[in-house]
Amino acid sequence: MQCTHCGAANLRTSRLRLLDIPRFLLFQYPVRCRNCRERDYIGFLLALNLRQAARVRRSEERAKRDEQTSDKSHD
Ligand SMILES: [Zn+2]
Repeated sequence: MQCTHCGAANLRTSRLRLLDIPRFLLFQYPVRCRNCRERDYIGFLLALNLRQAARVRRSEERAKRDEQTSDKSHD
């Protein structure tokens, strides 16, 4: 998943705020871009993946390489 503002694949889960509740009910979770620091929302499952990925950085880096080789064209 990538930042919709700068395109960097450098997102981390953000802290949930009161303002996020409506989005939360739509199964979206707030994330923060480490590159441009913009806030965004991603699907709940993606956010869960993100949190797990942060925990297992090393294996995630390997997975990222695989992702890039089989990357779908995004628009
Ligand atoms: Zn960004």
